[in-house]
Amino acid sequence: MPDTIVTVAALRRQIANQLRAGWGDDSAQRPDLDAKLLVAHALGANAANLTLRDDEPVAAPLVEAALALARRRFRGEPVARIVGEREFWGLPFRLSPGTLVPRPDSETVVEAAVAEFRRRGTENPVIIDLGTGSGCILLAVLSELPGAFGIGTDRSEDAVRTARDNAARFGLGGRAAFLVADWAAGISGSFDAILTNPPYVDGEDLPELPVEVIHHDPRLALDGGADGLDHYRRIVPELGRLLKPGGFAVFEFGYRQAAMFSDLARAHGWSPVLLRDLPGHDRAAVLTR
Ligand code: GLN
Repeated sequence: MPDTIVTVAALRRQIANQLRAGWGDDSAQRPDLDAKLLVAHALGANAANLTLRDDEPVAAPLVEAALALARRRFRGEPVARIVGEREFWGLPFRLSPGTLVPRPDSETVVEAAVAEFRRRGTENPVIIDLGTGSGCILLAVLSELPGAFGIGTDRSEDAVRTARDNAARFGLGGRAAFLVADWAAGISGSFDAILTNPPYVDGEDLPELPVEVIHHDPRLALDGGADGLDHYRRIVPELGRLLKPGGFAVFEFGYRQAAMFSDLARAHGWSPVLLRDLPGHDRAAVLTR
């Protein structure tokens, strides 16, 4: 019996239907998009090489490979982990076990930092990104500001390696350095800006996180202690020592933490200006003296 020919479009449809059948009408899930990305990955296509035609036939071993990826997705592994990459600020960031999957929320931090530098007309800003993970916040900012230089720190050696790799891939290796450090411990110097997205999930939300997050993002990058602000209490007192006079900081935080974070910042002499993410939550703040 001749093998049935499976096309790219049919394979996407089959995977999307399998995912949909399992997920029911869970509106947080996007079976069509996931199917498209998984098929592209199985077939060796990526953002730079999106040449798959809908009517292209797919060889049987590749059909099997795509179905195997779909099973991983169905068991809760995020697409970004399966394909090892996630787009942030238009750049394809490589991921590894020590990095959080970049979230669109963090683009709020990038946008604020770039706007603040442009408003100030800072010529060659020197930036530090504390807890850099994949390097997404720092590298996105550097991609916008050709005269900027940045340092990213992370407690995870694996994350530092991945961030360095991302910098090189984007042609930013000459303007970014990455170091293993516990926040800013052992770092001196005076920076024009400090950017940070510390772990902020609180004790109540941590057990409620979806499988995609709790089983696949590093706990080190999520757990913010009882009220979610443990790490902020360590970082905020360091700002004065790290920033140039007149420098600023941009912090990301959880969607219910704006008031608590603002109180903490004010207690250390900083004035917060709150910023909203796309869904409209207060998500970040710019601090100045
Ligand atoms: N936004 C992440 C989440 O999915 C948390 C990231 C962080 O703690 N900084 O909950």
